[in-house]
Amino acid sequence: MTIQLLPDEVASQIAAGEVVERPASVVKELIENSLDAGASTVNVIVEGAGKTRIEVADNGHGISSSELKLAVTRHATSKLKSKDDLFNISTLGFRGEALASISSVSHFRITSRPVDQEFGYTIDLDGGKILESNQVGAPVGTSIRVSDLFFNVPARLKFLKTDRTERGKITGLITKYALAYPDVKFQLKHDNRVTIQTSGNGNSREVLGKLFSPEIAKQMIPVVFDEEIKVSGFISPTSITRSNRRGIHFFINGRPIQDTTLNTAAIKAYHTMLMVGRYPLMTLMIEMNPTQVDVNVHPTKAEVRFRDRDQVFRSVGRAVRRALLASTPVPGLGQTTSSGLGIFQVPDWGGIQRSATPAISSGESGEEPPESVSPIASPGEGSQPGLEELGSPILRLMGQVAATYLIAEGPDGLYLIDQHAAHERVLFEKMMNQKDTRIPSQTLLEPVPVELTANEAVIIEENLERLNSLGFIVDEFGQLTFIVRAIPIVLFGMNPASALRVIVEDFEEDEAPLQKEVEMKLIARVCKKAAVKAGQILTQAEQAALIRDLEACQAPRTCPHGRPTMVRLSVELLERQFGRKGSR
Ligand code: ADP
Ligand code: MG
Repeated sequence: MTIQLLPDEVASQIAAGEVVERPASVVKELIENSLDAGASTVNVIVEGAGKTRIEVADNGHGISSSELKLAVTRHATSKLKSKDDLFNISTLGFRGEALASISSVSHFRITSRPVDQEFGYTIDLDGGKILESNQVGAPVGTSIRVSDLFFNVPARLKFLKTDRTERGKITGLITKYALAYPDVKFQLKHDNRVTIQTSGNGNSREVLGKLFSPEIAKQMIPVVFDEEIKVSGFISPTSITRSNRRGIHFFINGRPIQDTTLNTAAIKAYHTMLMVGRYPLMTLMIEMNPTQVDVNVHPTKAEVRFRDRDQVFRSVGRAVRRALLASTPVPGLGQTTSSGLGIFQVPDWGGIQRSATPAISSGESGEEPPESVSPIASPGEGSQPGLEELGSPILRLMGQVAATYLIAEGPDGLYLIDQHAAHERVLFEKMMNQKDTRIPSQTLLEPVPVELTANEAVIIEENLERLNSLGFIVDEFGQLTFIVRAIPIVLFGMNPASALRVIVEDFEEDEAPLQKEVEMKLIARVCKKAAVKAGQILTQAEQAALIRDLEACQAPRTCPHGRPTMVRLSVELLERQFGRKGSR
């Protein structure tokens, strides 16, 4: 074997592997070039989920005919001159790699005309090789057409997901840039249908509706933090959360980036205001001196390194905190609670560990370890004979506390039952039992069209059949619109759009659990929405019915998500607390 220099084509293809992973990566690089060129209009056309054709046309400053060939050459860029510039980057691109990479794995045409040039110029390439170049009539700006992406690397094609998913990624990406650049007018056409159209009038809340949903966008809290590191954007109030971090988007100097520690800093700012396992939605733009952040970490430029991480974290944390506090309504008299939780919302679970503990151990005899208030379901409490059985103890209802917990007397002590968790469990078992026959559904008087975001649409489409078996009747009606004809009876009365969103809200994008698990998950989700909430006053009859229903459950001690439905305060604990035993 002799050592040889790789032919340029091969080197480009290798480089392309890092930059061009899927159609959305092409769109990303092309849009970034348009934005770098100062464009105020960016039009994107996609066919066949980007595999057939991607076209990006802008009205930016263009490329002169003499430099056009250079633009598609590897390591050719107008954005960097010396190595010092590398640490002071104010453009989105700088690696001089994108056009060379993309053109090496597609049929590629670039047409450009700067303002001071009367004609445009166009170059055609095929797998990186220049076929021909011509003078053409063209508007000022640049347009690039990428056809048959990966035609010469079929292995790549195999790694792509379904068309809908790839399309969804493109839509999501353009939405993000549209948010970060509200002054730029973006249009996206998918197979001849306009799916994104922004006005370019500088209003980012308008764009926010496309990323989350219009209802959510309306409630998002603006962030304005104008210090050395500037932070702006939107965060969700504590009432709008998800079970994952996918609703969190960060931009640094106009560049979307992924940084889990930055996410953490922002989430922390919510601290006690969020329920465990719930995450806010946010889009935050950070502006800072480019010398303080290294963007040359990864070929896709999605990761960054900060010179002073802590300073960035502090700024983000303070910005979020300030916005949250400013948006929080002043609590009414008597509404404050010691934990601060009640100011924001009544927690719909988890009050057990947080609020029961202090109430019990805050007396003078503070020596009582909090563990003595045991969620009954918790395993390994061997010291409590008989309590690990799966069934429910027989309970005698005594009443409701804080419109959230039921109190009951049971074997060896006092039981507190979380009404929401308990009801979730009851509904869940009921629906699971019905699902083999048919979950009863309620037909809507009038079918309701529901427009979803691109990501949500993917999930619904992939689960359409399953939804029908769960009591939803939903039909596709265009790319992002679905018609809801019926919803499960347990959700009756709920607005059909919210009912459908119950299904998609928390779904992980790439989640592919087993068929059976998906069903259980979806049912659990429906039950969570349908169950009585904390804070809801129940009549005596309702309380009693809930306890009877819970007793009849197969796994009454936890909700479908695994949280306890009941905690027990043992007689022994009561005796110790009252100084009858142990502490003398
Ligand atoms: P980079 O963006 O990292 O410089 P690219 O390969 O993406 O590398 O582009 C190479 C060069 O081509 C850019 O530096 C820029 O000068 C020019 N260029 C690319 N796209 C456009 C565009 N849409 N408008 C104007 N110039 C462009
Ligand atoms: Mg570029």
